[in-house]
Amino acid sequence: MKPRLGQHFLIDQRILERIIRYADLKASDTVLEIGGGNGILTNKLAEAAGSVVTIELDRDLADGLASMRRDSNVSVIHGDALKVKLPYFNKVVSNLPYQISSKITFRLLDAGFEYAILMYQLEFAKRMLAAPGTPDYSRLSVTVQYHADIEMLENVPPSAFKPQPRVKSAILKLTPREAPYHVNDLDFFNRLLKVVFGQRRKMLKNSITSAISVLGIPIDNISRLDEAILQRRPETLTPQELAELSNIIRDEI
Ligand code: SAM
Repeated sequence: MKPRLGQHFLIDQRILERIIRYADLKASDTVLEIGGGNGILTNKLAEAAGSVVTIELDRDLADGLASMRRDSNVSVIHGDALKVKLPYFNKVVSNLPYQISSKITFRLLDAGFEYAILMYQLEFAKRMLAAPGTPDYSRLSVTVQYHADIEMLENVPPSAFKPQPRVKSAILKLTPREAPYHVNDLDFFNRLLKVVFGQRRKMLKNSITSAISVLGIPIDNISRLDEAILQRRPETLTPQELAELSNIIRDEI
């Protein structure tokens, strides 16, 4: 077992069955799995879908998966899911290695899919789901919700895994869709979110003013913003209000 690779294997059969039910797979589906591990989920996915591609970083586990599923509808990629070329897939179902949660989520969203059923650490899942004005609302909430609808399916206790992780888990459904608001410059929006949520106790006026060089904007652009907005803290703004703020100060008029 390699704890640094997040090797906690699902042992609760009822949760496994429910993951398969949530995934609602068809013979026409190609499912991507991140971290096949000992194959407990891979095997169930292979029964329900047309084909499965599983990416596993641990060589021994990848070899085990490949020999277990030889001549089947499963292909195994040995490598780092953050680096390997992603194959074709239309759905994703995985008990994720938690140490790559953020990076792999954005990589998958970039690649595009119909929907994903993913197990995350509960604390991380709460931040993905969080609404404005709540303590968990953060840069992650805004950026993930920009790309997809996020739905909580169930909480999962540590006892569902062997060895047991120290943290609780949760299963989410991610369904990519167009954002309900427009962002002119996504890269600038991301940098702005980093600045304002990096100093979440500060009023926007102070955090943005102290970061004009990081943001690459002239100080004058801040005066384009409504003073009432500038007096607020980032966690009180909806994603749409944050996007409007980004569009206003970024635009070179
Ligand atoms: N699929 C199994 C299950 O459902 O019980 C194992 C899930 S376990 C939480 C995560 C798996 O991801 C481990 O087998 C680990 O070796 C693998 N892993 C960790 N980092 C990875 C990475 N960067 N790319 C691909 N696989 C990775």
